[in-house]
Amino acid sequence: MGANVRTYKFPLGAALLDLARSGRDAVPLVDLATTYAAHLIDRDGDFPQAPSSLSMGDQDFLSVLAREREGSRIAGGPTEALVNAAVKSIPGMVMQKFHNLPGQGEVAHRFYELEGRGANRIVRLTSDLHAVAVESSRMLNDELDARWRIVEASFDAGIGRNLIGGLKFDETTGQLVVAAQRVPLTSLRASIDGFQYGRCFYCHEPLGDLLGPEIHVDHVFPFKWMTTGSWQGPDLNGVWNLVLAHEACNRKKWFRNPTDEEIRRLVARNDAIAESPVPLRRTLEIAMGAAGPNAATKRHQFIVNVRSLTTVGEISDR
Ligand SMILES: [Zn+2]
Repeated sequence: MGANVRTYKFPLGAALLDLARSGRDAVPLVDLATTYAAHLIDRDGDFPQAPSSLSMGDQDFLSVLAREREGSRIAGGPTEALVNAAVKSIPGMVMQKFHNLPGQGEVAHRFYELEGRGANRIVRLTSDLHAVAVESSRMLNDELDARWRIVEASFDAGIGRNLIGGLKFDETTGQLVVAAQRVPLTSLRASIDGFQYGRCFYCHEPLGDLLGPEIHVDHVFPFKWMTTGSWQGPDLNGVWNLVLAHEACNRKKWFRNPTDEEIRRLVARNDAIAESPVPLRRTLEIAMGAAGPNAATKRHQFIVNVRSLTTVGEISDR
């Protein structure tokens, strides 16, 4: 995820979940290709599915998608030309790569096997896929969508996945912005939701509608410290310090410092981001000055430092 120069793994993942949930085991390749193409034409707006620097020929699947998108939307489903292009492109590309992670090789589970030859090939959905599709319910789709969005948004903003540093939360717009360029990237909510498993940081209950007003972005170490005029610590608006919470849970916490347990969970959440190949990872490396072999220790030290800075005095103005 985020490690390829196109987003193809996302629509394939979404299509596999759809088909598995409908209870199917053996799916004609053309059905998978149709569902895959449907997910691509359903994307909001015209977010790019590849960096603009990538040059594409007429026969490239993304070129076909660009030509067929409008017609597909009008028709309420992918056009024949688009489905044909997907049938032709996915077996040799995304379906080969799906089970491989750069630097890690084959993943431990296989979610499908491709059988037969030519256009009549059959995609056999495995029990591992069925297990994931049933257990995950909505959460996995939300996480997939959020990660898909951040990769699209980074392509859109012309930011390479290794260059996304210094992402900050813009309080006014609710967007993640690239600090130096002031490029709005994507909704922070969508970007960090997956790392909280769709649940409130404080009460652990499901968050529900991510874009709804009842979900707040919360500073674990209170933002108030930055307004004291004598704050010597790091920017508390960094992703490393931000979590999602219900409005009520956020209000209840308000300006108090985090508990030991909350700090432990923040560290675990940041570790999860840092160990994933998402663009957000780079923001943590930069904001926390923690990259390389001892990164986890450095992240820990960083939090310990903030903790000592926020316990030297009380915040008087509550
Ligand atoms: Zn809550």
